[in-house]
Amino acid sequence: MRAVVFERFGEPAEVREVADPRPAEHGVVVRVEATGLCRSDWHGWQGHDPDITLPHVPGHELAGVVEAVGARVTGWRPGDRVTVPFVCACGTCPSCAAGDQQVCERQTQPGFTHWGSFAQYVALDHADVNLVAVPDGMTFATAASLGCRFATAFRAVVQQGRVAAGEWVAVHGCGGVGLSAVMIAAASGARVVAVDISAQALELARKFGAAQCVDAARTEDTAAAIRDLTGGGAHLSLDALGSPATCAASVNGLRRRGRHVQVGLLPSHTGTTPVPMARAVALELELLGSHGMAAHTYPPMLESVRAGTLRPDLLVTATIPLDATPAALAALGSAPGAGVTVIEPWS
Ligand SMILES: [Zn+2]
Ligand SMILES: [Zn+2]
Repeated sequence: MRAVVFERFGEPAEVREVADPRPAEHGVVVRVEATGLCRSDWHGWQGHDPDITLPHVPGHELAGVVEAVGARVTGWRPGDRVTVPFVCACGTCPSCAAGDQQVCERQTQPGFTHWGSFAQYVALDHADVNLVAVPDGMTFATAASLGCRFATAFRAVVQQGRVAAGEWVAVHGCGGVGLSAVMIAAASGARVVAVDISAQALELARKFGAAQCVDAARTEDTAAAIRDLTGGGAHLSLDALGSPATCAASVNGLRRRGRHVQVGLLPSHTGTTPVPMARAVALELELLGSHGMAAHTYPPMLESVRAGTLRPDLLVTATIPLDATPAALAALGSAPGAGVTVIEPWS
């Protein structure tokens, strides 16, 4: 098969022929029809992820068709249209037994713990636990955008953040996950304040339902701006970027008893992240993490997509072939861009 491979961290990746993957007994091989390009892939390529061993094939936001099935898989057959959360769970550890597959103790992540989906085929473990059927009528490009950013945002806003209609929700960072969060919070009846340093990202946030925008490049104290706009602070606030500055601004922009959800990953190379804990104590804030979303909790999200309440398809702004992927991966470092780029490995 053809795949995007890199031999050394930070050096150009290339498209070349590699051996086709084979399914584990409990796994499947999926023919990749669409796979999203994500900033996590860039971090992995830069060497910021300790799970990655070389040579490596990135890619973790995928959708496609089951090609081959391991002997112990009972729920899936060749030809099934599927996607997966980026956290693939083992199905048997205590967290999985509790229904919390998103924090599985023995999780695998395609494109990190093993070769990923910037390829014509990808192997996925524990298929009966992790695969999600792609509904009829949903394109592979849309389904691919669910697995990382959109599902992550859905869990952060709805499941962890417990958003309620009429609340003020602040979203710091309007890349793929942030714009998804804006759309999901607005669809839940919340009033959304979007924060970013890019005018283009804020324009998209407004299009996806933000009631207010704060241009962080022109605002000295974004937390104060949010407190002003919301009459005392947001009820729910997300750091969708993942940086010490946006984490602190998110916590500082909350009202009393507000909820902060950390969605953006804080890569280990930046060290530990200071959090304004004095404010958390005085205002009785809740500080929560959010990490992907378990496959078995996808149905309400998929139903909202089917009904047209949520439109992840609108987030897809570019479609590229495998051959254009090495350059697009490298470009993420200097120009993250707004919206989602989807790779079609067979085009
Ligand atoms: Zn991702
Ligand atoms: Zn597990």
